Order: sequence, then structure tokens, then C-alpha cells
Amino acid sequence: MSRKVTVLGSTGSIGRQSLEVIAACGMEAVALAANSSAKRMEEQARQFRPAIAALADEAAAADLRVRLADTNVRVLSGLEGVLEAATFSSADTAIAALVGMAGLRPTLAAIREGKRIGLANKETLVCAGPLVLEEAKDYGAKVYPVDSEHSAIFQCLEGNRDRGEVKRLILTCSGGPFYGKKREELADITVADALKHPNWSMGAKITVDSATLMNKGLEVMEAMHLYHMPAEKISVVVHRESIIHSLVEYCDNAMIAQLGAPDMRLPIQFALTYPKRVSGPSAPLDLWNCGPLTFGTPDLEAFPCLALALEAAKTGGTAGAILNGANEAAVDQFLAGKIGFLDIAAKVERALSRIKAVQNPSMQDILDADAAAREEVM
Ligand code: MG
Repeated sequence: MSRKVTVLGSTGSIGRQSLEVIAACGMEAVALAANSSAKRMEEQARQFRPAIAALADEAAAADLRVRLADTNVRVLSGLEGVLEAATFSSADTAIAALVGMAGLRPTLAAIREGKRIGLANKETLVCAGPLVLEEAKDYGAKVYPVDSEHSAIFQCLEGNRDRGEVKRLILTCSGGPFYGKKREELADITVADALKHPNWSMGAKITVDSATLMNKGLEVMEAMHLYHMPAEKISVVVHRESIIHSLVEYCDNAMIAQLGAPDMRLPIQFALTYPKRVSGPSAPLDLWNCGPLTFGTPDLEAFPCLALALEAAKTGGTAGAILNGANEAAVDQFLAGKIGFLDIAAKVERALSRIKAVQNPSMQDILDADAAAREEVM
């Protein structure tokens, strides 16, 4: 499988695992972009020898330029540099793994070049799903999910010819590190507590989102846009073991599930190789020793972020951008030690109640909603 890939967000968790897949499957990483990790970017550039290595942070890019002075890797800086990596003409594929709303412009830029997109940046779809997917259609860019749940649903829908036969999509949810705790027990959660995830190793932002269950709420919106399903036809089931990655229930009540070891390299790889499957680096699932699989109902009272996201999904329009902007700002404040764990949901709820959602939004409406939500959280 020869693919020339741009990895946007290459120094993060998904980016690093993408590079493992690229190396293992004999593909090429032709451009790398990240925010500010100069040291890690240097290591990646020396290993993969891309034509471009871009860092959004100017000072970090200056550092990288010195580090890579003895190579012929072109070091770029700022948003312009990241956009140049995203649109690099030698790449046929872009892995969009930048964190948060910041990933929107580079992702759209790659889409407008008609590249195959491996989409890991769920905030892009939460905020601007219909616009992003409309552009993908216009520019002939195929978008494949990298998020494990959405890759699972994609796989469970393979062979389905009539979407009318789909009764609902069921997203599995590990429950996060605080599963089983009551609301009052969550008040004193520290940053260190929140950064421990039972099954997946991920970046800080998504790990906090997994602890509040906001991540699952964002994923409901992501699924809604990717698979053109109303919020009412998407359910969340707690599945502690993260072995079943999601399911599709059909109108005859058959449920199709995708199982695998919790290893992000599998969904990353499938986004790169679809419609083919190839053997790759992801771990096999040992069914005989993985123990019992359990299922339960999410506790919306202890984890109000999920309830808020489900509500925003039903509201539609800019509600997703308001929810996401408020959440990104609140998670930043939590990680900086400025607010408590329960304040994240309180801040998001306040932003949603104070800012009116606009239906059928333009890109400007979305950017305005995002800015207003961040302002509200400050
Ligand atoms: Mg996920």
C-alpha cells in the first residue's frame, strides 16, 4: 500500500501512532505538522525524512530550524506553515489529528486539495460538521474516521445498502476513570486523577474529556454528522472493557459489533488502507483470556457533560460550537488548576444557556459562537 501522508498533529498521541502505522505498512510520511514540540518533531523528522516539518509556535519552529540545520527537511512556522503542510501537493492523504477547534482550518485546507482524510479531530465535526462534509463532497475528498468508535460504526455499516434499515448507532463508552462515583464524590478530583484513563493512553485534553464523559457527547455529534443520523438514533452504552468499539442495530434487531484490543493503531490503519485490510502493528484480541464483557447505562447525573452534549446535539446549529468552545476553555482552566472538576460542566452549561444557537450557520456564525463561548468561560 503506497500512500504519501501528511500527519497534522504528528507529535501527539494519535500522530505518533499514525507514524507507527505508516512505518509498519511501508507508507511514507511526506509532511509533519504540530504545535510546539520541537524535540519530538526533530526525532520524527530524522526518522521519517519528510519534505516539510511545521510547528505552529514560532519560537519552537526557530528551535527546530537549528536542530534540523544539517538535514534537507524544510522547517515552516506559524499557521501558514501548518497550512502548507496540510496542502502539500506530494501528499495524497492527511491524518487530521490536531487537538480542538485549532484543527479546523488545516483540516479544511487539506479537504480543499481533495486529499483522503483520516479524521481524528472530532472538534472539527462537532463545530462545523455539515460545512466540512459539504466541502469534502465538493472537492472529492474522502473522509474516514480515525476515532475508534466511529471506525467501528464505519466497519459495522460495511455491506449496508439502505440506511433506512439502520435503527440506531450505539457508541460504547468505557465510563472513564470515575465510573461508579456519585456526583458529590467528584468535587475534589485533581488533574492527576483525571489524567488516568483505564484503557486508552491519550493526550491531556481528550483524557479529561473522557473523565467528564464530554468525549462521548462530542462523539455522538461526530457520529450524527459522519453518518447523517439524528441525535435520537444514537445511543451510548457503558462498556468498561473497551473490547467492543461500537455497534449498529438494524431494523430487524440484529446488532453488528466490531471488536478488537483497545489499540488506536487499528482504526488509524483502516482509515489509511480502506477498502483493503493489511496486517499491521495493532495488537490481536485474545478473546479466550479477555474476561467477561459488561454493559450498563451512563450516569447522566454524575456526568452532566454527557447530558449537555446530548441536548446540544438535539438543538443543532451552533450549539455544538458553543458546547465545544466552552469545554475547550474550561478544560484548559481545569488543567491549569484554576477551576475544579465539576466546574467544567457548570461552565459549559452556563455558556449554552447564555448564548443563543443559530440554525444553518455559516462558517462565520460558527467562529463567532466559538469565540463567544470561550469569552463566557473566562
Ligand atoms: Mg473515541
